[in-house]
Amino acid sequence: MIVDKLNRPIRDLRISVMDTCNYRCTYCMPKEKFDDNYQFLKPDERLSFDEIEKIVAVFANYGVNKIRITGGEPLLRKNLDQLITKIKKIKSIEDIALTTNGLLLEKQLPSLINAGLDRVNISIDSLDPQLYHQMSGEKGQLDIVLNAIEAARNSSLKSVKLNCVVQAGVNENQIIPLLKKYQNTNVVVRFIEYMDVGNKNDWHLNDVLSFKEIIQIIESQWKIEPINPNYIGEVASRYKYKEFDGEIGFITSISKPFCQDCSRARISADGKLYTCLFSHQSHDLRKYLRNNPPNLLSQKIAEIWQARDDRYSELRHQIETGKDKIEMYVIGG
Ligand code: SAM
Ligand code: SF4
Ligand code: SF4
Repeated sequence: MIVDKLNRPIRDLRISVMDTCNYRCTYCMPKEKFDDNYQFLKPDERLSFDEIEKIVAVFANYGVNKIRITGGEPLLRKNLDQLITKIKKIKSIEDIALTTNGLLLEKQLPSLINAGLDRVNISIDSLDPQLYHQMSGEKGQLDIVLNAIEAARNSSLKSVKLNCVVQAGVNENQIIPLLKKYQNTNVVVRFIEYMDVGNKNDWHLNDVLSFKEIIQIIESQWKIEPINPNYIGEVASRYKYKEFDGEIGFITSISKPFCQDCSRARISADGKLYTCLFSHQSHDLRKYLRNNPPNLLSQKIAEIWQARDDRYSELRHQIETGKDKIEMYVIGG
């Protein structure tokens, strides 16, 4: 096991398998900036499944047991089940999860589960078809995603979670409907504070609905209380209803940072390692993969993690703005 400068081990690896997306969510890839002329990676610039497998094997050696496959939209990557099959075979990988907008999920679900997918997070910001369509940059289709959620929750997956990014004045009126719809199901709804990831979404603090404000909206209907995390370093704060069963999650990067236990590393589709969601810099792993002694990749990953001291969310208000940060669609959340 290795630890960084703040004594944090590495447990969780998030791999973006695709930089492009079939949505243009206003808070992630606004369509005005990601138009038809936008230059995404060429297919041969993306890591191959064999390369991803080699990278995961090194991280597994250093203590990673959880893998999240993300994007862009990961289900745009062809034959994703083949990658899951490869990763599943790596000793010590206990959990493989997928984060998706759900549009292409229903059809692919059986083969992904068959390959070894354990859990899925589906992003859904609204139950109002028009608002959903608008927030997805006029690309999303709510009915298709709702069917995918039903398919996932009736499958053998260990967990199905929903991610809702809440933007003040945009979709806070969807908090109660989302919770109502999934009460008495096995689906956990999680609310994410709108984050200042990247530089292209014109983020402003006024557009954030804070954890406290989200709780107030929920408590206008039901009493809820905090529950213990499932494990150290869990991203979401967990709450439950007081009067009946059911869990709700909150991701509070803005108002209640959780850098102290952050054990997550992220890899972009072209093989760059990021040690923080808000990084200004990356480390190109591909140059250590190709035509180099087999242990060089392992040695470099250890060096990078051991030099890590990231805690952007905790320092957010002291950091100079305007620096180029990595975009969310590149590293997948
Ligand atoms: N395309 C997939 C999806 O939407 O689920 C996977 C990648 S997406 C970048 C991962 C997660 O990041 C989604 O749940 C999305 O809502 C969230 N996200 C994107 N931009 C965000 C932002 N600025 N603040 C908070 N969450 C954001
Ligand atoms: Fe695509 Fe996900 Fe970003 Fe929306 S949040 S634009 S679905 S990558
Ligand atoms: Fe981890 Fe960086 Fe997020 Fe802090 S800001 S929790 S270090 S990814």
